[in-house]
Amino acid sequence: MSELRELYQEVILDHYRKPRNSSALREPSHRAEGINPLCGDKVQISLRIDDGRVTEIAFEGAGCAISTASASLMTEAVKGKTVEEAEEIFRRFHEAMTGEESFPGELGKLEVLSGVREYPVRIKCATLAWHTLHAALHEQETQVSTE
Ligand code: ZN
Repeated sequence: MSELRELYQEVILDHYRKPRNSSALREPSHRAEGINPLCGDKVQISLRIDDGRVTEIAFEGAGCAISTASASLMTEAVKGKTVEEAEEIFRRFHEAMTGEESFPGELGKLEVLSGVREYPVRIKCATLAWHTLHAALHEQETQVSTE
């Protein structure tokens, strides 16, 4: 179990040091900003939605390792998905992060964030990018806050 934990930590650090999809989109069709005042994390999510599908997604922002890694993993998880599929991943991820059951297999790589549940104060770091994604999908330009 501790080997698995180390592996998870490595994936999180890798996404923190080399975040994926972290350069701004030139012409996003949807965007939203999120903040987590508890930790000071800020994130901006930009999307390009064509025919109901997330064809491009990027995030920018400054935050702790967990919020950055989670944003990076989120962009990988929803890129190429339909809006409905992206919403479903958001819903399942949120449920998994705030519950105690094991991560559903469909969430795949996102399971690396499961260890964060042991640190309740960090759960908001991990869910920030996802709440912001949810707002962006609904074209809510207003800033979302985890508080
Ligand atoms: Zn944080």
